[in-house]
This record gives sequence, structure tokens and C-alpha cells, in this order.
Amino acid sequence: MKEKLYTIELHDALVSGDECPFCYLERDLEQKAIEFVLGSSYMESDTRDQTDRQGFCRHHTKMMYDYGNSLGNAWILKTRMQHMREEMAKEMASFKAEPAQSVFGRLMKKDGAAAEGTSVGRWIRSEESHCYVCGRVDETYRRVIDTFLHQVRHERDFLDLVKQSKGFCIHHFADLLDACAQGLDKKEQDMVFPVLFEQMNRELSRIQEDIDWLIEKYDYLNKDKDWKNSRDAVQRTMQKLVGGHPADPVFKNQK
Ligand SMILES: [Zn+2]
Ligand SMILES: [Zn+2]
Repeated sequence: MKEKLYTIELHDALVSGDECPFCYLERDLEQKAIEFVLGSSYMESDTRDQTDRQGFCRHHTKMMYDYGNSLGNAWILKTRMQHMREEMAKEMASFKAEPAQSVFGRLMKKDGAAAEGTSVGRWIRSEESHCYVCGRVDETYRRVIDTFLHQVRHERDFLDLVKQSKGFCIHHFADLLDACAQGLDKKEQDMVFPVLFEQMNRELSRIQEDIDWLIEKYDYLNKDKDWKNSRDAVQRTMQKLVGGHPADPVFKNQK
């Protein structure tokens, strides 16, 4: 089956005026995933089986708390806790304080970094490396990136649309560049990289001007001058640097 393309969603994100179309889409995917997991799906055994095994990262745990639904959260937590207790009991029964690797392995530390620490410590860290919500979001996000590449290849005007947008946050820019390098041929890369680089330089300097001016505005000499685009420069600069929407209100269950 052909993978679904997110052309409409990507188009809407690019014209949304957001500082990053991928942040814009990620917010939507994240909220839908939280709604799904705390909707009725938590009573379905296959979903719960997955949440038991994958757990939730700290960021999404906080989102689930804020969203509400104590009973739903309690059911999810109850069996995730059971799962963790069972697994941890096994890990503790075979506890090793020494790193798994040999002395030779430790000399080769750079490659073996993940094997550092005690056996239980390593198991805990591996449990922290996956999250049910992150997993759901990432799956679609990857397809959105694929859609971007598809559009570069097949839509003549697509890059113009990209040029007119506000660029990307630095976090998502990394994924985009890597995907372009992997998925586009040399000719396509020669076309797309200069466009992306020029745009990022331009948009980052725009943000720099906004945040610089916000500071200047606090000088009493400038108190009667116009704010220009600086009023919300803090949250937009935060987003540009690390991604996300720091000024968003808490996402709550509206029902
Ligand atoms: Zn972003
Ligand atoms: Zn997560």
C-alpha cells in the first residue's frame, strides 16, 4: 500500500505563519495522541498492552496530567506500574554493579557509552528512551517529512511556498536536512539546500532583530518607540532555538 501523503496538512502548516511548519504539525499530532490515549482507547487491551510496554516520557506524562481524566490516567498508570515492577524485579534479581563490558570495552569507551553503569541503571535508561505518545507522533512526523521531499520532487511551485514561510526551528531543521540528504538525488539537493540555507539565515536574523529590539525597548529612551515585532519575541526565539510553542496554554480535556 502506498504511504499516505500529508500534502494538505503540510501546505496549511507552511501558510500558517508559524515559526516552523513542523512544530505546527507536531503540536496537532501531539494533542491528537493525548486525546486518543486518554479517550476511550485506554480500555482497549492492545492499546494498553502498548502503553504498558512503552510508557511515557516526562514531557508527555506532564501533558497527560494537565489534560485531565484521573480515572483514565489511573488505569494507564496501574498496569504500567505492574509491568515496571515485574520487569524491575527480574533486573534486580540479576543485578550487576559492574558495567557489562570488559575492561577492553571500557578502554573503548566512546563506542560503548550506552553500556556504562549498573545493569539496573542501564535497564531504567532504556525504559526512558521510549514513549507511547512520542512513538505515535514520530510515525506521522516521518511521513510529513517524506511528504516534504515528495513535494520538492513533484511540485514545481513548492519551494516558492517554502520561501514565503518563516523557515524552521533549528531542532526540526536538522531532521529536514538529513532527510533531504538521504532522500533526494544530487540534482534535487543542489536545488533545495541553497534555498533552505538562505532562508534559515534570513529568518534567524529576523528573529535576532526581534529579540534585540525587545531588550532595547526596555531602555527608557525607547519607551515611546514602536514595539515592532518584539512583543512576543521571547516565545518565538525560544521556539526557533529548540522547537515547540512555549506560550501555548495548557492542553486540557474540553469535554
Ligand atoms: Zn519546529
Ligand atoms: Zn513522549
